Amino acid sequence: MKHANLSIFVPHAGCAYRCSFCNQRVISGAQTPPTPETVEALASQSLKALGARASSAQIAFFGGSFTAIDRMDMISLLKAAGRFVGEDGFSGIRISTRPDAVTKEIMDILWEHHVTAIELGVQSMDDAVLSLNGRGHTAADAGKAVRLIREYPMELGLQMMVGLYGDTLDGSLRTARKIADLHPDTVRVYPTVVLKGTGLAALYESGAYRPPGLTETVDACAGMLELFEERGIRVIRMGLHASPDVEEQMIAGVYHPAFRELCESRLYLRRIQGELARRDIRTGRITIYGNPRELSKLTGQKRCNLDALKAQGVVCRVRPDEALEGRQIHIEKEV
Ligand code: SF4
Repeated sequence: MKHANLSIFVPHAGCAYRCSFCNQRVISGAQTPPTPETVEALASQSLKALGARASSAQIAFFGGSFTAIDRMDMISLLKAAGRFVGEDGFSGIRISTRPDAVTKEIMDILWEHHVTAIELGVQSMDDAVLSLNGRGHTAADAGKAVRLIREYPMELGLQMMVGLYGDTLDGSLRTARKIADLHPDTVRVYPTVVLKGTGLAALYESGAYRPPGLTETVDACAGMLELFEERGIRVIRMGLHASPDVEEQMIAGVYHPAFRELCESRLYLRRIQGELARRDIRTGRITIYGNPRELSKLTGQKRCNLDALKAQGVVCRVRPDEALEGRQIHIEKEV
């Protein structure tokens, strides 16, 4: 039901720093933060549209540092949203913020005002990378904020970026492992996109920064997806939402409207190759069975997985098998 959430963007509200990669006005499409009156109007409209589905949806404030907004303004927004939470309303309020803007006092205010989920923009667990990208907080701040949030019965989400200035894909993988060790309920993984007008754009234009390419980023992010899944952490987003604004304003970096599907396809390819190696199948024809709803990911975009297997000498056909769950596969060798 996460798709039913009402997203209200607060572009850069509360942001004391301008992080190297960030331009929320492009990412969210919103230009100005909402007033309490706008929040009430949006919530009322959305409640009518959602009907009974609202009981499993949240009002989500995204695109800024929510808990660093002027205290009275933050409380006014929470109060406006809170009027639409509860019986016959939304299930709660979701906010996103920075690790260094979480204190006991703030947590008490959030808890009192129906906040049921917090997402922290961790971005990297490497202090040098955080500093190079103008984040203004450390990895230790993330750990401290997580421990504090865990004292409250709220859902915790962590967001990370891949391929930031000064980072490597191995470094991003180390960040993913450290994030997994913090045991969030959810994560979002964002490959770095260079947007016009950002600090990163200036670094890119001067030649000081070159983001990693799509293929290697998909490789690294597929590994992260697998890691989080193995640790029971839900990956609720991979890659920026498809948006004409982002497409128009990006000058470099990794952006693909079906980025997650590319990562899942890569996991299928690795699984198939692993199984072929285990059974010492190097050439010939095989049939790969998979869950019917997963076959396009198994095959890969433009049949890229089948082409990669053909290039290594194995010709495949793909068939559905209802008995297989998730990413399970079964391979039969033709004689
Ligand atoms: S990444 Fe977060 S903290 Fe940094 S400028 Fe963007 S919204 Fe503000």
